[in-house]
Amino acid sequence: MRVGTCVAPGSFAVEERPAPEVPEGWVLLDICSVGICGTDYHILEGKHPFLNYPRVIGHELSARVARDSAGFAAGDLVVVNPYLACGTCRACTRGKPNCCMAIEVLGVHRDGGLADQLAVPAGNLYPATGLTTREAAMVEFLAIGAHAAARAELRPGDRVLVTGAGPIGLGTALFARIAEAEVTFLDISPARLATMRDTFGFDATHGAIADAMATTEGDGFDAVFDATGNARAIEAGFAAVAHGGSYVLVSVVKDDITFADPEFHKREMRLIGSRNALRADFETVMQAFRDRRIDADALCSATLTLEELAGRFAGLAADRADLVKVMVDLRP
Ligand SMILES: [Zn+2]
Ligand SMILES: [Zn+2]
Repeated sequence: MRVGTCVAPGSFAVEERPAPEVPEGWVLLDICSVGICGTDYHILEGKHPFLNYPRVIGHELSARVARDSAGFAAGDLVVVNPYLACGTCRACTRGKPNCCMAIEVLGVHRDGGLADQLAVPAGNLYPATGLTTREAAMVEFLAIGAHAAARAELRPGDRVLVTGAGPIGLGTALFARIAEAEVTFLDISPARLATMRDTFGFDATHGAIADAMATTEGDGFDAVFDATGNARAIEAGFAAVAHGGSYVLVSVVKDDITFADPEFHKREMRLIGSRNALRADFETVMQAFRDRRIDADALCSATLTLEELAGRFAGLAADRADLVKVMVDLRP
């Protein structure tokens, strides 16, 4: 079978591998569609903090079950939850496998699904009834946004600020809007903000935090979501949280961040981490597709074959600022 492998930093190739082994309780999948995301570009560029090469990438996956097993029938379309959790640690036993202490992410810590076939634990597969193969491959990245929105416990009418108008910020904003919040975007890229307005209907966009604050008469936002991956931007975001509001850190940075405790305290601010997603978030996204509240065509910047990706991956990585999602189709 074919696999798409980051052989070493800067080097990607399509290689031949034997079909995967299928341990007891795992299910063999024929991969259909794979989304390419920031993590994949970082792996290609050698910027991922803990990664061994060579690595078969691919964690945003839709697939058809290859043969009857573990309650699934051959041909069933499934979404793959790529976070393999241990099931026994403190987080797992308290219903939070998304932040398992020994988490292994397909395509990061172990070989992923940019391949003709992949074996995955049955518990990590969710039936994608009513979705297209491409929609099903978009569920994972959107589930990260759905999880972030859920973490904030939004109420209708809440003022929400999303900083960072990339794919994760966009997913967060889409689910904040579904929760009937009023969403404002903040980003330094005018092109990204134009995409948020013109393609996704988010009319309130700003390039400077002071301009966003002015639209609230200085009160700030009931929930601020950081999706920038930038420590200085994370620090600046504290000032945009309203009294009684929440700050959800969706992106992660290597640096320390600092904030003024009196400002934090007087707001009685909730500071919330948001990592990966839970099954409930995957289900929220699938229902949003079924209800036609999310448009896969709008999210898809380009569709490539595996061989086309090999030829264009470095070029896409170098010029990805305005891409939403590049999708790789392995089979219909
Ligand atoms: Zn991703
Ligand atoms: Zn665990």
